[in-house]
Amino acid sequence: MPIKNNLRPYSSYVDEKIERLTILAYEKRLPSSGAPAQTWFQVQCECGSPTQWRLASQIVSRSTKSCGCLRSESSRERLHARRVAHREVV
Ligand SMILES: [Zn+2]
Repeated sequence: MPIKNNLRPYSSYVDEKIERLTILAYEKRLPSSGAPAQTWFQVQCECGSPTQWRLASQIVSRSTKSCGCLRSESSRERLHARRVAHREVV
């Protein structure tokens, strides 16, 4: 059976590059709402902007492809990312 990207442990993505983002570190964070812990990646965009923390699920699903320098960071994209994240929880 082929291994799906989104079944890999998030920790295994450190030092990898997805789209424009190189993953430098990861961290689990508990949302204040009492929802399950989410993993965040510290990423460096290839455009040279400062590092950012982004939801790991959005990086792995390619919903987030850059620091925002790609035009993909529209409200439509964020909506899509939320749906992808929800599916992973289920
Ligand atoms: Zn960028």
